[in-house]
Amino acid sequence: MKYSEYQPRTDLLKDKIILITGAGEGIGRAAAISYALHGATVVLHGRTLNKLEVIYDEIESLGAPQPAILPLQLSTASSREYEHLVDTLEHQFGRLDGILHNAGILGDRVALADYPVDVWDEVMAVNLRAPFILTQTLLPLLQKSQSASVVFASSGVGREARAMWGAYSISKVAVEAMNKIFASENSFANIRYNCINPGATRTAMRAKAFPQEDPLSLPTPESLMPAYLYLMGEDSIGMNGQSINAQD
Ligand code: NAP
Repeated sequence: MKYSEYQPRTDLLKDKIILITGAGEGIGRAAAISYALHGATVVLHGRTLNKLEVIYDEIESLGAPQPAILPLQLSTASSREYEHLVDTLEHQFGRLDGILHNAGILGDRVALADYPVDVWDEVMAVNLRAPFILTQTLLPLLQKSQSASVVFASSGVGREARAMWGAYSISKVAVEAMNKIFASENSFANIRYNCINPGATRTAMRAKAFPQEDPLSLPTPESLMPAYLYLMGEDSIGMNGQSINAQD
């Protein structure tokens, strides 16, 4: 199937409660707005409160279901802060129908021989540790959904390790592995796990990785939404442990 040509129903995500990490800008922002416009109550996560408030207002002004905001700095989050996030979601909604683990950072584009350990730790905390802990701690809420979708953000350099991409490439290779392991250990038929590789996309992260590139030559985050909607909606029920390309 060509995911980029998927045509979702307008009410695809009606009554779904979906957490989107890194919703403040880029692909996460586009997904939050798109999921809300398809009927979901979106929980906007990010580290910068005022960015989330802007998206909140935008979603409200579009007449979509009222979102919620849950800020958390993933690079330093303690177990207690993760527990607080889970408690808040449980108290407010009682269940969760989807997580888009989208938040990510690039780190440095240098050889491993020169890779700064503090940058390594931060990349691993945001790109790998956070989606692991969030998935594990939110399992009881996902189990309460009729059908829940957990989506991890991968990358071309997550399919095959690539020189000069350092901790970022290693974190994404590990995310692909984590997706497969969660999917195959899954004992709850109502939960599915899949990865999505957005491909080169017009965002701040891409501009940092390729400063010489003309951003206007790249697809926008909004143009990737058919694939992001497909994985989150019920048309992908039965798909588990897969890794797709949003631009295919
Ligand atoms: P982006 O524009 O840089 O946005 C990343 C988002 O993650 C931001 O909203 C950011 O929050 C959030 N975030 C970063 N560090 C965080 C932290 N410590 N705690 C909480 N939130 C944090 O990135 P993007 O290009 O949209 O990428 C989205 C995902 O797609 C990432 O996982 C990325 O690896 C993957 N991807 C992107 C491309 C591409 O070409 N763009 C290609 C392959 C894969 P703030 O807004 O507060 O900074």
